[in-house]
Amino acid sequence: MKITAALESDSGMFIMEELDLEDPRNDEVLVKVAACGVCHTDMVMRGRHYLLGHETSGTVVKSGKKVRAFKPGDRVVVAYTYCGKCSACKDDRTYECDCIHHFFGGERPDGSTPFSLSGRQVFPLMRQGGFSTYTVCHEKALTRAVGALDLKSLAPVGCGVMTGAGSVMNYLKPEKGKPLAVFGTGAVGLSAVLAAGICGCNPVIAVDKISTRLSMACEFGATHCINTGEVEDIAASVRDICGGIDYGFDTSGNRLLLESLRPALNKGGKACGVGIGGSINFSNKERNDGKTWGSPDTGWSVPQKFIPYLLSLQEEGKFPFEKMIHFYPFNQINQAFKDAEEGRTIKPVLVME
Ligand SMILES: [Zn+2]
Ligand SMILES: [Zn+2]
Repeated sequence: MKITAALESDSGMFIMEELDLEDPRNDEVLVKVAACGVCHTDMVMRGRHYLLGHETSGTVVKSGKKVRAFKPGDRVVVAYTYCGKCSACKDDRTYECDCIHHFFGGERPDGSTPFSLSGRQVFPLMRQGGFSTYTVCHEKALTRAVGALDLKSLAPVGCGVMTGAGSVMNYLKPEKGKPLAVFGTGAVGLSAVLAAGICGCNPVIAVDKISTRLSMACEFGATHCINTGEVEDIAASVRDICGGIDYGFDTSGNRLLLESLRPALNKGGKACGVGIGGSINFSNKERNDGKTWGSPDTGWSVPQKFIPYLLSLQEEGKFPFEKMIHFYPFNQINQAFKDAEEGRTIKPVLVME
């Protein structure tokens, strides 16, 4: 079928193109896209000729012959694809699936893609292809949409929101009443702030240089905010609040923030990060002090379990992630990217229908 998708032109701007989309194979599903969020990874992966967009929500139009869990009309959220067959998948650690790196580039196991432009193959990043009117996804990428929110508000749950909340709830697993700080409060960091509040952390410290993000962090339950543009020593500012943190989460990948997290962390402290290219190598002394660092991909989330849980929290009013969304019509994709890059919006979501 013919679909409309946003691809990057040679000048780097997105333009709307008419693509061909194959019918779903046995284990795939055709989804009419309702909306798709713009994630930081989309910005990083520009200029590489992928069909971007991996925070998709939509409605199932057609299921492959062997798909049992989804039928036409089902409302779904799309997350990452996993094989369901390797030892990690069988052990409920789908986020460590042997095939994830393979799926990242958008290829099916045989190297093909359902998308093409004038006969040339187009690969959808992470096998989603959300910046289009329709997409064909693997059934394992889908989670049924539940709860009170409309479909377009659900788009970012499958990547940014799940990753931020999961890094706290599934990886750090903070003890109630202990201090936690989030370094970098974009959509991932703000989801982590919400999760830290639900876990009962105290204080919850938000660190960023953009004041609008910090105000949202306060609205989301942060007890303290540190504007990095207004303080000399970030680690000292953290210690002034509570003497040091037991849990730290970095979403920025920024060297200054990572080097501030290191001395702010208490003995026995647990820290992690998802910022691209940013990690901490603790010294022997720090390791002897029990400080640990991890990079929990996707926030160690099993989408089909974690997303319904987050949406139930949303319905109870405890997880109002939709407040950080700013909607754009699909044809304003260039503006959405510009606003995100310049920090004017926290979570742009493109609306296709
Ligand atoms: Zn993402
Ligand atoms: Zn697997």
